[in-house]
Amino acid sequence: MNFHEYQAKELFAQYGIPVPAGNVAATPLAAVEAARELGGDMWVVKAQVHAGGRGKAGGVKLAKSLEEVRAEAERMLSMKISTYQTGGLELPVDSVLIAEAVDIESELYLSALVDRVHSCVTFMGSAAGGVDIEQVARTEPEKIITVNVNNTAGLQPYQSRKMGFGMGLNGMQVRQLGKIMSGLYGLFRDKDLSLIEVNPLIIDKAGNLLALDAKINAD
Ligand code: ADP
Ligand code: MG
Repeated sequence: MNFHEYQAKELFAQYGIPVPAGNVAATPLAAVEAARELGGDMWVVKAQVHAGGRGKAGGVKLAKSLEEVRAEAERMLSMKISTYQTGGLELPVDSVLIAEAVDIESELYLSALVDRVHSCVTFMGSAAGGVDIEQVARTEPEKIITVNVNNTAGLQPYQSRKMGFGMGLNGMQVRQLGKIMSGLYGLFRDKDLSLIEVNPLIIDKAGNLLALDAKINAD
C-alpha cells in the first residue's frame, strides 16, 4: 500500500516531524484557493502520484503568483507523469499539493526501512540528499550512514547523534534530527510500515531541519 506525499506529511505532522505548510487540491480553482489560504507570495505545486522523480519530470514547480499556481495546477492535473520510478507507466495526476515555498540551504537524505537480515528497523542518512540518492548509493556508498535499531531497546539518543554528526549537522540540528528520527521510528512501528523516505530532508536558511518530501510504503 502506498501513500501520497500529502498523506505521508499529515502523518509526519502528527508525529511531530516538521513539514512545510500545504493544502491538497483536485482542480485548478481549488489550487488557487489552497494557495490563498496558505498565504505568502511563493508556492510549490506538486503532482501527487505514487512515484518519486517528479521534479525532473515536470511534476514539481515553483509558482510566484496565484496565476502561476492556477496554470501549473491545470497543466499537472491534465498530464500523465512518467518518471524513472514509474517503471515505464504513465500515471494520471488526480490531485496536486500546494506547499509553501521554502528557502533551501542544503538537501539531506533520511530513510527508515525494514532490514530483513538483522530483523530490525534501519535508518539510512546522508548529507548528499536531493534527487540522486540512488546514484550516491552506487558510486559513493561511504557517504551513507546506517543505524540499526534494536527492537527491544528502541532508537537510542547516541544513534541519532551518530547520524547527525555523520551528516555534518551542528548541535542544534543534531537535536532536531533526534526528534525527527524518534518521530519517524514511532510512526514506523505504530503503523507497521515497510519504508519511510525523506528525500530531501532540508536545512532552511534559518538553519532548521524540515521534511520537504515524504514517501511511505506499507506491506
Ligand atoms: P521528487 O522526489 O518526486 O522529485 P520532491 O518533493 O523531492 O519530489 O521535490 C523535488 C525538489 O523540488 C526538491 O529536491 C526540492 O529542491 C524542491 N522542492 C520540493 N518541495 C519544495 C518546497 N516546498 N519548497 C521549495 N523547494 C521544494
Ligand atoms: Mg523527493
